[in-house]
Amino acid sequence: MNIMDLYKDDKTVLSFEVFPPKKTSPIESVYGALEELCALDPAYISVTYGAGGTAADNTCAIASKIKHDYGVEAIAHLTCVNNTKDEVREVLRQFKENDIENILALRGDIVPGVEPKKDFAHASDLAEFIRDFGGFNIAGACYPEVHPDSKDEVEDIINLKKKVDAGAELLISQLFFDNNSFYEFEKRCRLAGINVPIEAGIMPVVNKNQIQRMVSMCGASLPAKFSRIMNRFEHNPEALRDAGIAYAVDQCVDLIANGVSGIHLYTMNNPYVARKITEAIGKLI
Ligand code: FAD
Repeated sequence: MNIMDLYKDDKTVLSFEVFPPKKTSPIESVYGALEELCALDPAYISVTYGAGGTAADNTCAIASKIKHDYGVEAIAHLTCVNNTKDEVREVLRQFKENDIENILALRGDIVPGVEPKKDFAHASDLAEFIRDFGGFNIAGACYPEVHPDSKDEVEDIINLKKKVDAGAELLISQLFFDNNSFYEFEKRCRLAGINVPIEAGIMPVVNKNQIQRMVSMCGASLPAKFSRIMNRFEHNPEALRDAGIAYAVDQCVDLIANGVSGIHLYTMNNPYVARKITEAIGKLI
């Protein structure tokens, strides 16, 4: 299924993100969580690629399982900065063999001390390569609070437009905790002639380590309301989990009321959290 068809009517698309297990764990270790997440019936599930030290090879297998065994549409992420064109071609062949039709085309993070391969500099190069390869629907990542490598928001939007022009028909955003940053970003996109659907990335923060790790990795700003919750409940795991879920639900309600195209839930492979949020907003989308 072409995921772009999901955005044709007025409904808000609710999608999930999952990640493959660490290289040291068997692929089967995530199947239980996947089955529970699929039972929540999201519009699609995206599967990360090599992020946080997970095995890239498993992305295809997990996306295929989601689609064929659990009957939910899948998007496979693919990064390019550490791959040659031949290596990317091989992955695309593997995706095709497994009937994966949708790809989130990414540059990937530049890791200090690891020399990037030279074939792809940006996600837009990968999007163009996939488009020329043929047979896939392409999505791209975007950053409401500006990608950390960009000089400013103008440069970031100009580059984002290149990615859309290179074939990205859908954008999925980095996580954020202040909806106004997303609304301002969406406005900048429309002014720049970026007219594809933009899904808002929502990360329910359910423990304090998670927030510190995420913010240092992606630089999301923390509204005072959010920080107060984290500080107040940091020593009470259950209260923090419930408050994190409530905060994410509050963000989602506001986004839906503002007519966002979709909400992409960073589930962290946690079916309990995904279920609580899905139940809370299920009737609104
Ligand atoms: P790009 O779009 O290439 O942007 C990176 C920087 O280059 C930006 O500053 C941009 O302004 C600039 N730029 C872009 N195009 C051009 C151009 N044509 N000319 C000049 N400058 C340009 N990482 C993983 O390793 N695996 C994953 O599965 C994964 N999934 C993700 C999913 C989402 C929704 C998001 C938001 C991020 C994900 N990431 C993942 C992290 C991502 O790889 C990093 O944020 C990475 O640093 C940038 O990737 P990108 O595709 O956005 O890069």
